[in-house]
Amino acid sequence: MKNEKAVVVFSGGQDSTTCLFWAIKNFKEVATVTFDYGQRHSAEIECARKIAEELGVSFKVLDMTLINQLSANALTRDDIEVTDEEGQLPSTFVPGRNHLFLSFAAVYADAIGSRHLITGVSQTDFSGYPDCRDTFIRSLNVTLNLAMDKQFIIHTPLMWLDKSEVWELSDTLDAFEFVQEKTLTCYNGIPSTGCGDCPACQLRNEGLARYQTKKSAGTIV
Ligand code: ZN
Repeated sequence: MKNEKAVVVFSGGQDSTTCLFWAIKNFKEVATVTFDYGQRHSAEIECARKIAEELGVSFKVLDMTLINQLSANALTRDDIEVTDEEGQLPSTFVPGRNHLFLSFAAVYADAIGSRHLITGVSQTDFSGYPDCRDTFIRSLNVTLNLAMDKQFIIHTPLMWLDKSEVWELSDTLDAFEFVQEKTLTCYNGIPSTGCGDCPACQLRNEGLARYQTKKSAGTIV
């Protein structure tokens, strides 16, 4: 893969930034694509832009605000509260979002001469999003190849990792501090450690604490 070009689906958050470092290590050239779907905080897109600039990879924003004509959710509407109740889909859920984003990313990748797509979806922490699961990604990979008569490969370096293992991967890639300081995961638009209260912050910080405990216990070499 070293001599090929890859496209990273990129949001400026912990997961996709870790994927970006993974891509830079494994590919000759890396491009990012970020989706503007009317996020509550355009800080997210600005954060992604800054990271891409700092790492010297190309940055492309695609307007996906049309998704809001289809459904209402807490990521894009200030009047809907962010909730994450046991046994229910979180209120941040946009049905089919990853499906749509990956399909657009594939068209973009093809346009710039790339067949490698990288996405930070994870089945471990999938929060009930069906289009984050491995079986869906495999199915979409086949569909994209048939749809465009290409040989795409969708890479999912985080598929079987939990949040503490994502921190571990970033450390392995010498990106731990970068990810900790420069990414934005928080639903309230606060970078780095975030607000600490929203479901995204809780997941991120709880994973970080578990990783740091493991590391200091010496179980990670
Ligand atoms: Zn937060």
